[in-house]
Amino acid sequence: MAIPEVVLSSTSPATAARAIPVLGMGTGLGHFTPEQRPATKHAILQAIELGYRHFDTAAMYQSEDVLGEAIAEALQAGLIHSRAELFITSKIWCADAHRDLVVPAIRESLRNLKLEYLDLYLIHWPMRLKAGESYPPIESHHILPFDLKSVWEGMEECHRLGLAKHIGVSNFTTWKLAELLQYAKVPPAAVQVVEMNPTWQQKKLREFCKEKGVHVIAYSALGGQDIFMGKNLVMESQVLKDIAKAKGKTVAQVSLRWVYEQGASMVVKTLNKERIEQNMKIFDWELSEEDKHKISQLPQCKRVTLRSMLSAEAASKLPDEDEVVEE
Ligand code: NAP
Repeated sequence: MAIPEVVLSSTSPATAARAIPVLGMGTGLGHFTPEQRPATKHAILQAIELGYRHFDTAAMYQSEDVLGEAIAEALQAGLIHSRAELFITSKIWCADAHRDLVVPAIRESLRNLKLEYLDLYLIHWPMRLKAGESYPPIESHHILPFDLKSVWEGMEECHRLGLAKHIGVSNFTTWKLAELLQYAKVPPAAVQVVEMNPTWQQKKLREFCKEKGVHVIAYSALGGQDIFMGKNLVMESQVLKDIAKAKGKTVAQVSLRWVYEQGASMVVKTLNKERIEQNMKIFDWELSEEDKHKISQLPQCKRVTLRSMLSAEAASKLPDEDEVVEE
């Protein structure tokens, strides 16, 4: 069954923007190493062959160029006929979250991807680092005050120049998103990408996004990769295991189906062909009211936090209010 698509509302009528396939493949592999390149490219090609058209990358993941190579090969092999069939997302890293670095940053991402435009460009985190300072663990002396208004102006310029069909944000709280919506000229910031799954349901944020017409894309829809945290609360949930068993589905499918039924899109990471295929098989069945009620009662626990990207020294200086946790 083909992956359903959602039309995003923000683009100007003049922009021929592609609808977003609700299931995409994530290429953020935690700690990406050169050894993972061939397997990653192979998995992307397999996904395209199976019908995936939506791929998620970021400057920070260092997977942009592998994705670009896979896209070029897919075109050459005739797996797709044109780049326009794809929906490609990338994200600006915090060290480029400076007004004058935004357009150069998207141009660099496009160079890596060998593409002329992105379907979606996101502010990866509401945080600014000193230019040139790179990746986690982040030291406190690299952190600068984040000027959302000026960074968003840079994002709007990317949109105006045709380098990004849609612009949006990631890891924003409702109050940060509300601030942005007050002055965003490209109306509205159409997409918010956040951690979301049955054990971190994001109810408050989703309600806010629905009211404002902002589409939510879930990451860590399967609870995330265990390199960050030993226990995977989604995959180990007895409630989800019971629902999966009764339905003849896997826990992964139940979790992804739940995300889909909340009206969100999702980007899921796996390089395993059977799993890539299994994760697509969520569109021709439903969770019952009883299943949904049980899932709504699951204990909630946030996994990805700003704190998790900081060095111990920087985390110790983080004021509590920066660790806002919303349910
Ligand atoms: P995830 O999609 O929740 O995946 C978690 C783990 O589930 C993977 O390690 C994978 O293991 C496993 N898996 C996948 N399909 C499965 C299946 N059918 N059955 C059992 N296990 C399965 O994790 P994520 O990487 O946190 O999120 C996905 C993507 O979202 C990332 O790759 C990235 O592109 C994006 N992301 C964005 C942000 C952001 O700040 N915007 C943050 C985190 C992630 P195997 O690989 O061993 O199959």
